[in-house]
Amino acid sequence: MSLNHVRPWRNIYRRKSRQIMVGSVPVGGDAPISVQTMTNTVTTDIPGTIAQVQAAAEAGADIVRVSVPDEASSKALREITRESPVPIVADIHFHYRRGIEAAEAGAACLRINPGNIGSQDRVREVIQAARDHGCSMRIGVNAGSLEKHLLEKYGEPCPEAMVESGMDHIRILEDNGFHEFKISVKASDVFLAAAAYQGIAEATDKPIHLGITEAGGLTSGTIKSAIGLGNLLWMGIGDTIRVSLSADPVEEVKVGYEILKSLGLRHRGVNIISCPSCARQGFDVIKTVEELERRLEHIKTPMSLSIIGCVVNGPGEALMTDVGFTGGGAGSGMVYLAGKASHKMSNDQMIDHIVEEVEKKAAELEAEAAKAQAAE
Ligand code: SF4
Repeated sequence: MSLNHVRPWRNIYRRKSRQIMVGSVPVGGDAPISVQTMTNTVTTDIPGTIAQVQAAAEAGADIVRVSVPDEASSKALREITRESPVPIVADIHFHYRRGIEAAEAGAACLRINPGNIGSQDRVREVIQAARDHGCSMRIGVNAGSLEKHLLEKYGEPCPEAMVESGMDHIRILEDNGFHEFKISVKASDVFLAAAAYQGIAEATDKPIHLGITEAGGLTSGTIKSAIGLGNLLWMGIGDTIRVSLSADPVEEVKVGYEILKSLGLRHRGVNIISCPSCARQGFDVIKTVEELERRLEHIKTPMSLSIIGCVVNGPGEALMTDVGFTGGGAGSGMVYLAGKASHKMSNDQMIDHIVEEVEKKAAELEAEAAKAQAAE
C-alpha cells in the first residue's frame, strides 16, 4: 500500500499476512482488501442464485459465497460456478462429502472447519480434493458454535476460546501440509469479535477474513459492521471482508466498499462528500445527493464529488475533490473542476450537468490509466 507522506495521519499499516488465492482473487499480502457477500437464495434455484451472484458482482463483489447444505446443492454449484463472473466460495458445515463435491464442482474456496468433519481420513480426503481442484479454504470460527470442550474450559464464548478454536483448526490443516487458507473468528458482539480478531492476528500470519456475524438489518448492521470492521481495518487487520446484513447481498457489498472507502483502503466509484444541509443551503442537498447516488451507480472509476449546500464549506471541500458543486443563491451555484471554481450552473439543470461532468472525468481517468498501463 502506498503511504501518504504529506498526510501521515492517514496511513494504515497493514498486518503482514501470507497471500493465498481464491480463484483469480489474491487474498492477503499486499493484495487489495477484497469484498465478499453471500447469496441468500436456495442454491438449487440455479437461475435465481446466478442472478444474485451476478448482481453482487456488478455491485463490486470480488468473491461470493454460496451455501452447500446437501448433494443437490453441490450439483447446482457446478452450473453456478460456470456462470459466475467471480470466484465462488462453497459454505460447508460438517459434511465432508459436500466439501469434496464442491471442490469438484468448481468452487474456488471451501468454507469448512476441519475439526468438525470427523476422522483424519476425511480431513485428508477434503484436503486432497482441494489440492486436486486448486481450491483454497476458509476456517470459520464462530462465537455461537464453539466446540463443547472449549466452552467447558472457558465457561462462555470469549476471545481466548475463539483463538484456541482457530489455532486448533489451523494445526489440522498445517499438519496435513495444507497452507492455502484464511481464517475468520466472527461474533455478533463487536467487542468479542474485535478482541478475537486481534488475538488471531497475533497468533498466525494467515490471511484474515473479517466479519461481524448476524450484525442485523441494513441500518443497525451497517453501523455495527462499520464500528467492528472499521476498527480492525484501521489497526491494519483484515485481508477480505464480508458485511453480514439481513438485507440484499448488493447492500452488503455497497456497505463493505463504503467502509473501505472511508478508510482510504480501497476505492470504487464515486465517493460523494456532502453536507447534512441546513437553512443556509442554496439547493435541496438531500434530494440532490439521493438522485446523484442513483444516477452515478454505473461509474466504477474511483473519483470524488462534493455536493455542498453553501459557501461555508463548499469551496474548501471542492478543493479536495475531482468535481464539486456549491450552492450560491439566486437559483444557481458554482461548479468546481479539479478543485478550482469553473463555472456557474442553475440549480434546475445541475443534476444532469454534474452527471455529465462526472462521466467526462471518469472517461478521462480511465484513458489515463489505460495509457499508463500501456506504457508499462
Ligand atoms: S455547508 Fe452550508 S448548507 Fe451545508 S450544512 Fe454547512 S452551513 Fe448548512
